[in-house]
Amino acid sequence: MPEVFDVIIVGGGITGTSLMYMLSRFTGVKSILLLEKYDKIAPLNSNSRSNSQTLHFGDIETNYSLEKIRKVNRVSTLTLKYCMALPERFRNSTIQECQTMVLAVGKEESEQISKIYDSGIREIFPTMRLLNKNEINELEPNVVAGRDPSEQITGLTSGHGYMVDFGKLSETFVEDATKNDKVEIKVVFNHKVIDTKKTDDYYTVRTDKGEEFKGRFIDFSTGTYSLYFAKKMGLEQNLSILNIGGGFYNSRRVLKGKVYRFQHSGIPFAAIHADPDINDPNVTRFGPTVKVPLSLEKGKRGTFMDYVKSFDFDLDTLKSLKNIFFEKNIRKIIRQNFVYDIPGVGKRSFMKHEVNKIIPTLRINELKFAPEMGGIRPQIIDERTKKFAVGDDKIKGEGLTFNITPSPGASACLGNALVDAMDISKYLNLDFGSEGFTRSFGIEPEKIYSSYD
Ligand SMILES: Cc1cc2nc3c(=O)[nH]c(=O)nc-3n(C[C@H](O)[C@H](O)[C@H](O)COP(=O)(O)OP(=O)(O)OC[C@H]3O[C@@H](n4cnc5c(N)ncnc54)[C@H](O)[C@@H]3O)c2cc1C
Repeated sequence: MPEVFDVIIVGGGITGTSLMYMLSRFTGVKSILLLEKYDKIAPLNSNSRSNSQTLHFGDIETNYSLEKIRKVNRVSTLTLKYCMALPERFRNSTIQECQTMVLAVGKEESEQISKIYDSGIREIFPTMRLLNKNEINELEPNVVAGRDPSEQITGLTSGHGYMVDFGKLSETFVEDATKNDKVEIKVVFNHKVIDTKKTDDYYTVRTDKGEEFKGRFIDFSTGTYSLYFAKKMGLEQNLSILNIGGGFYNSRRVLKGKVYRFQHSGIPFAAIHADPDINDPNVTRFGPTVKVPLSLEKGKRGTFMDYVKSFDFDLDTLKSLKNIFFEKNIRKIIRQNFVYDIPGVGKRSFMKHEVNKIIPTLRINELKFAPEMGGIRPQIIDERTKKFAVGDDKIKGEGLTFNITPSPGASACLGNALVDAMDISKYLNLDFGSEGFTRSFGIEPEKIYSSYD
């Protein structure tokens, strides 16, 4: 084991493992250490039971700007290319094709979705089409069956979609990274990083086991914890995160593919949707619900203080929160989801306002809450605009990067990894293998990098 690693990655979710792959495959980095506080790869949000398993291209995100759609489409295509090149025995359990559509329910949503269709999205997705009730019926009969005939519904689909087990994909990245015998790779589980200090030209990372590891560059791919670490190291005073927890309900399989409800602009997370589970062909999942947990990890109340520290409360934080909670659509979502939690009436209300909007004939006794499913999305608040930022972000310091990764962070993993790998190469005075990257992914890395500016 080297005395000083070139790179230490903290966090073994999809962000950390995809970076490990990118560094090993396309840079001259000689040694990488990955530190994960649990006993396996992808234990938290990247695990398939925590997220919606959707490879997001921007075609079902009615809340994204065209610029954001272009970026998401470009980086998620990297993930698709990587998955499709996997050997068959891994490929089928990691990625599966599945039809995907957005569903607008009612006149107002239908009008808005038609506007989106005419807004330039077809330049990005030439196969995009609007679906009337009969066409929706052909793709997903249960969406139309039993619906009030006077209720207007409109669909939007680009005709292709994929579900991904992002946990398995994370494991594959680690396996692929270790194939390069010119790079020394070490993965250490059950070590929680508690402190990082700069000493001369490297950092010393201390874990809860009392061990110390040295690294020239430290990449925090710690999901909901990344902003906490950045603030602890004196970086980034203009961001906060509002953690949005999401849970799921299960029913028997009632859909062929993924059906996302229309999402209003200004709301950074996807609306409730229904979809198959890549690991269980017999169920349809409904979710994620919207909760505002006061913790950094699902069910871990002990992380409350770390969450408070990542806020770093000041007047701008308070003004941002006030601005966000006063936004009509956000207030409505939070109010509705508060009701969904009330014993007895909650499930009935969720059924009426969410589930039956997608599948009108599903009955309450066919829907079961899945307590083991769900995770936390660290939604970024930009205290300069006092609004939610859409998507992920990274904070950069000298020899440091912190990745904050709400949805679609899993889809965008290779874009994030590329940017970090190029930054790390520059910092360590190493070449980045642009030609090899372009050969593998069919796009020049600089084009991806510049879209992150
Ligand atoms: C309900 C829900 C639905 C979603 N749906 C989708 C979707 O359909 N498509 C999509 O692309 N994205 C989706 N996302 C977002 C996606 O799951 C995340 O963007 C992604 O998993 C983030 O990966 P990550 O590796 O950055 O974080 P994580 O998977 O959370 O990994 C962070 C890792 O860091 C480790 N760690 C933290 N602190 C320390 C420490 N001190 N020391 C050592 N290790 C530490 C943790 O144990 C963990 O393993 C969804 C998220 C949720 C919650």
